[in-house]
Amino acid sequence: MHQARTTCPYCGVGCGVLAELEGERIVGVGGDSEHPANYGRLCVKGSALHETLGHQGRLTRPRVDGVEVDWETALSAVADRLAATRSEHGDGAVAAYLSGQLLTEDYYVANKLFKGFLGTPHLDTNSRLCMASAVAAYKRSLGADAVPCCYEDLEEAELVVLVGSNLAWNHPVLYQRLKVAKTRNPLMRVVVIDPRVTDSCEIADLYLGLKPGSDARLFNGLLAWMADKGKLDRVYLEKHTQGLEEALAAAREEDGSVAAVAADCDLDPERLETFYYWFASQLHVVTLYSQGVNQSSSGTDKCNAIINCHLAGGKLGLPGAGPFSITGQPNAMGGREVGGLANQLAAHMDYHTPGALDRVTRFWTTESLTPSLPEGPGHKAVELFEAIERGEVRALWIMATNPAVSLPRADRVRAALEKCPLVIVNECMADTDLLAYADIVLPASSWSEKNGTVTNSERRISRQRGLLPPPGEAKHDWWIITRVAQRLGYGEAFDYAHPAEIFDEHARLSGFENPADTPDKGKRLFDISGLAGLDRDAYDALAPIQWPVNAAAPRGTARLFEDGRFTTPDGLARLIAVRPREPEQRLSEARPLRLNTGRIRDQWHTMTRTARAPRLMNHRAEPFIEITPEDALVLGVGDQQLARLTGAGGDYLGRVRLTKGQRRGEVFVPMHWSDRFSGSARMGSLLEAHLDPLSGQPESKHGAVALTPL
Ligand code: SF4
Repeated sequence: MHQARTTCPYCGVGCGVLAELEGERIVGVGGDSEHPANYGRLCVKGSALHETLGHQGRLTRPRVDGVEVDWETALSAVADRLAATRSEHGDGAVAAYLSGQLLTEDYYVANKLFKGFLGTPHLDTNSRLCMASAVAAYKRSLGADAVPCCYEDLEEAELVVLVGSNLAWNHPVLYQRLKVAKTRNPLMRVVVIDPRVTDSCEIADLYLGLKPGSDARLFNGLLAWMADKGKLDRVYLEKHTQGLEEALAAAREEDGSVAAVAADCDLDPERLETFYYWFASQLHVVTLYSQGVNQSSSGTDKCNAIINCHLAGGKLGLPGAGPFSITGQPNAMGGREVGGLANQLAAHMDYHTPGALDRVTRFWTTESLTPSLPEGPGHKAVELFEAIERGEVRALWIMATNPAVSLPRADRVRAALEKCPLVIVNECMADTDLLAYADIVLPASSWSEKNGTVTNSERRISRQRGLLPPPGEAKHDWWIITRVAQRLGYGEAFDYAHPAEIFDEHARLSGFENPADTPDKGKRLFDISGLAGLDRDAYDALAPIQWPVNAAAPRGTARLFEDGRFTTPDGLARLIAVRPREPEQRLSEARPLRLNTGRIRDQWHTMTRTARAPRLMNHRAEPFIEITPEDALVLGVGDQQLARLTGAGGDYLGRVRLTKGQRRGEVFVPMHWSDRFSGSARMGSLLEAHLDPLSGQPESKHGAVALTPL
């Protein structure tokens, strides 16, 4: 038996894992005590990783039109059909939908193929459902999609504010770190702001059970309160920011008194003012936010309302201080790094980044090939499926994700997939909901087989190592993409034999015309040029490291903006004028209940992996609907009774769980179940597809439903 280091494939904490290998089997896993994300800890999902492995249920052979074929036939079919679609309908008729489960190297070559050589801007990712609003807000305010904090900041803070984040269930190891830090520092306070009383409240000194969707009003109120009480850091604001007056004016358009804000957020005014006082009187404050803030039709504004308060108090760029978005998926950030969002090009460059189109074109040009990059952004996730519905996108390549379950209006997504003339799916498992819609199925490698890098929520790049051979004929995603590229005639630009070579190219692009010693104008913050040139051994041995990594910071960078210089043209951060908006999904007589959705502690996404471990199923064995006893009484439904929710585009069948930790008039359902596990429990079919206008992130936390007892 021997041990090997790798990284957990589930949440954005990105814990280091020690896998115990016996021949070609992983017989156990433990936390890697040397990994700075978790220092040896694992949560229940991570510690059951070895129980989810095995070849049973895996996809092992390619399929074209329902018939098993060899790889040569499958790859040629993909290449020929993509080429035919482009020549008949134009470059924009082909698209890709990727996943935060992919490794950075997979993402890089997919982005390079679609945007660089197929000339289509329509490549987006399921990370759009998770952190797109946080990204848009960082860009608006700080000038770059750059998370300022690191995990140690949670331990160094005097006040930690959790907003729309059930850290205890969704990022458990980070929660454990916070809990230990609070025990060690009795002066540390934790505030939880969430419509639901979650397990994270166990360590809360103050809980604010706000009305769903009122976050921006609450933080606008905080900004106004800080101004009124003389708690603004005028020196910091003067030196490092602009936009205070406009942001304050917007915050004061509504009555900024504590009483008025508390009434609008449905909170006790005294408790709200206690929070305002705590926030304003501490310098070392971390506000950690997640999907409860992001998954909203005004998610970007909500994130900016939070960032505004940190800038106004100078609580950023210091140990234990800053706004800190935590990503859901293991590589949501890695995808952002290579251009995995439809509004990005590559290496954190957007279409409007000065010189970016020309720079990326020149970098990807080979002796005989010149890329033909699209001129502007493509369709974001939900819009992409609408374009398929309209018949504009006619070929879609989906990798490592299951939009037939997870997108809002999931039934419309299914209808769009049905209609799409060409659907190609890279998938590990043999029985996902999506495969019914695939014309070409390509068996992909999975965790423990895949070899590459991921980036966690604190910008830390870690190796996920290939420890076992893929089953049957399954192949790595990067291999599949590059072999299709070769058949399309782009072999010279996709001549990679190992993921180390892709990572090297990605690292070189990040530093291309991006001098490390030019801190201000023209400097792009995402820079890992210090990791370029690694040979296979050095790549394999790469220790976890936080970007930027370059000549100026060869050992990585724990915290950003410590010098108060931001990545805007003038180096100043922007406070943004935020005008709070109600959720777009309106309650009505027909659908009077507010629907909240989210993860549960022991499952991951659509359960293709976690459902294989019996002990993970023990936590919650079936889909459920949480509701208060008072509402249950009115609706005539009892604990453990079956009930049906009816939403915008479908039904959800679940067992009622009564809870006092929820507001009246609201229901909560988990996001994980699908037709594979239950006749009708797809939360995506309940939701309207309302999007944040800036980020394109769907409003997954604010559905409107009716409940019928069964
Ligand atoms: Fe994996 Fe997240 Fe659990 Fe860490 S906290 S072991 S990354 S699921």
